[in-house]
Amino acid sequence: LEEQLRQSQKMEAIGQLAGGVAHDFNNILMVIMGFGSMLTADALLSSQQKEKVEHILESADKGAQLTASLLAFSRKQVMKLEVVNLNDVILHVEKFLTRVIGEDVQLRSVLSAAPLSVNVDCGQIEQVLMNLATNARDAMPKGGVLTIETSSQALEERSVMPHDTGEPGNYAVISVSDTGLGMDEATRSRIFEPFFTTKEQGKGTGLGMSIVYGIVKQHNGYVNVYSEPQVGTTFRIYLPLIETVEAGQRRQGDFAPPRAG
Ligand code: ADP
Repeated sequence: LEEQLRQSQKMEAIGQLAGGVAHDFNNILMVIMGFGSMLTADALLSSQQKEKVEHILESADKGAQLTASLLAFSRKQVMKLEVVNLNDVILHVEKFLTRVIGEDVQLRSVLSAAPLSVNVDCGQIEQVLMNLATNARDAMPKGGVLTIETSSQALEERSVMPHDTGEPGNYAVISVSDTGLGMDEATRSRIFEPFFTTKEQGKGTGLGMSIVYGIVKQHNGYVNVYSEPQVGTTFRIYLPLIETVEAGQRRQGDFAPPRAG
């Protein structure tokens, strides 16, 4: 428990720092990009000069993507909550995921027959899936299978997860599994730390999993991780399940509006 507390305080502090830096840095980048694009439109510039300015703009754009990741991690983004069927969110993002994982990795999705009503920011949940899919792909350089499965699960009692204690209740669960390299315990214990990466320089920022963690936490959910070296990794994302409209209407009995059809 002490370790959990230390971990969450650390994340909080780094989040605040990162958010502050990202915000100021973003303003600087906007000035560079603004004047840079004015320059490229300048008719007096030679094509060689233009090319150099394009390089500056490309780098500034990379910087802007990084600051966007930092801002996402520091949870400075406002949530746009919607009641949706979680399965629909997954169906919507599937074609992007297929693109992310490439041709050597096969996507298998096994969605629950029953709808899973959740109150979420769909864009943020999509971001979670994209980050998990990106890591899964990187863990399967020789190809493999990425499986996305949804289900509902009742936590009967408080459950210990790597960085949290899950409160009892009904949850929608998204399980994301790969048949990749897996992780040893030393890596597994650090994956949610911002800037922790085992990828070579320039390949990883170490922010993907901390963004996943931040988003899930903001939704009052939990992340669980199971991993075995050379076998693969499974992430389980728990999101609070809400009562379905039908169930709510049934309970209201006579006051339920008549159903069409
Ligand atoms: P990055 O992907 O930029 O390295 P992340 O925060 O997304 O940053 O991930 C941190 C680290 O967690 C990765 O460098 C990797 O070591 C480990 N990791 C995350 N997902 C997986 C996975 N599916 N399989 C194996 N290792 C993983």
